[in-house]
Amino acid sequence: MAEINPRFIQHRELRQSLRELCGQFGSDYWQRNEEKSAYPEEFVAELTKAGWLAALIPEQYGGAGLGLVEASVILEEVNRSGANSGACHAQMYIMGTLLRHGSEEQKRKYLPQIASGELRLQSFAVTEPTTGTDTTKTKTFAARKGDRYVVNGQKVWISRMQHSDLMLLLARTTPVEQVAKKTEGLSVFLVDLHRSGGAGLTVRPIRNMVNHETNEVFFDNFEIPAENLVGEEGKGLRYILDGMNAERILIAAECVGDGYWFIDKTRKYANDRVVFDRPIGQNQGIQFPIARAYANVLAADAMRYEAAQLFDAAQPCAAAANVAKLLAADASWEAANVCLQTHGGFGFASEYDIERKFRETRLYQVAPISTNLILSYLAEHVLGLPRSF
Ligand SMILES: Cc1cc2nc3c(=O)[nH]c(=O)nc-3n(C[C@H](O)[C@H](O)[C@H](O)COP(=O)(O)OP(=O)(O)OC[C@H]3O[C@@H](n4cnc5c(N)ncnc54)[C@H](O)[C@@H]3O)c2cc1C
Repeated sequence: MAEINPRFIQHRELRQSLRELCGQFGSDYWQRNEEKSAYPEEFVAELTKAGWLAALIPEQYGGAGLGLVEASVILEEVNRSGANSGACHAQMYIMGTLLRHGSEEQKRKYLPQIASGELRLQSFAVTEPTTGTDTTKTKTFAARKGDRYVVNGQKVWISRMQHSDLMLLLARTTPVEQVAKKTEGLSVFLVDLHRSGGAGLTVRPIRNMVNHETNEVFFDNFEIPAENLVGEEGKGLRYILDGMNAERILIAAECVGDGYWFIDKTRKYANDRVVFDRPIGQNQGIQFPIARAYANVLAADAMRYEAAQLFDAAQPCAAAANVAKLLAADASWEAANVCLQTHGGFGFASEYDIERKFRETRLYQVAPISTNLILSYLAEHVLGLPRSF
């Protein structure tokens, strides 16, 4: 059957390389991992070895020096293959905070090792159990004591910690009552997770709906050397927000990849499955939802490219990045529903991979940013409607 992605030709070689690599990890591989709740070590190792996760690291620090458009194509193809980028996507973009705001010394020390995969920086600790999306209320506190910071507090949903060497941590360094604006007084730290054997750090895995390694984290007088502060103390929230456009565009691309995977799977089944002596896809009641879901994936894909191109051209891209994430998450979820419905009962059987991908793509309505918060950004910051919080 023909390729359904009209943009396939734009990055044909890149896509082919990814398809060859991902093709070595078929349905059996993902099902085995799912059964054992295992991390896809081999898959991530291959992606790392091929240099794909270092796409955004500049060549001077040992990376590929590619743009966000290419990086987004990489993650799109990972999800398009039936895999899930969630196991490793953060290795690609968390380092952006270090790259944009770290000192030259920090960049030289860490980026080449991150590029080679020797150091895994794929854990990012922002969310807290009692404050949720209201990040300015972050309670985890890092108090400066001489040449170190002493951290106390709690984080939740901190992914891939057990498969990371480094973690980026957002913590308050000045109490909220003592800052002029609530967005100030937060700082970002690069945490070496193996330092001092992790003394003062407790990590508890959270069993969840998808095969995704994510954790509750408790800091109890956990020490971080002061030299691991990234940028200036008190400006951390701005640094984190800076990285969010890239993250949203990359997540949008993953959703687009999922969307194409679902549509492809659906059209094949609708052509093959015969009920009442004809392929079910001959019924317009089956055809139209597939065609509509496909149209929405194409539209989201176009928006993803627009946002990524703006990002690469260093143009303002926050509105486009948010719209791309919103439309792509909706389109992949619609395609997932259509795929499940078209497969009837077989959609529920694990061996078809649909129920797994269905659960995986559902996450994007909530994380890394929930749909309501994107709508609120567009309403208030782009359309100028009154602020609600
Ligand atoms: C599998 C998984 C992995 C994750 N990985 C990470 C990670 O690695 N690092 C990390 O820091 N976080 C991570 N997260 C956390 C994720 O970013 C948050 O779950 C997400 O941002 C939503 O925050 P919350 O769960 O605190 O929801 P809440 O902020 O409690 O919100 C609950 C619901 O209310 C809605 N809501 C809240 N306020 C408003 C409002 N004013 N108007 C309208 N609606 C509103 C939200 O949209 C949401 O639907 C992960 C989450 C999951 C599930």
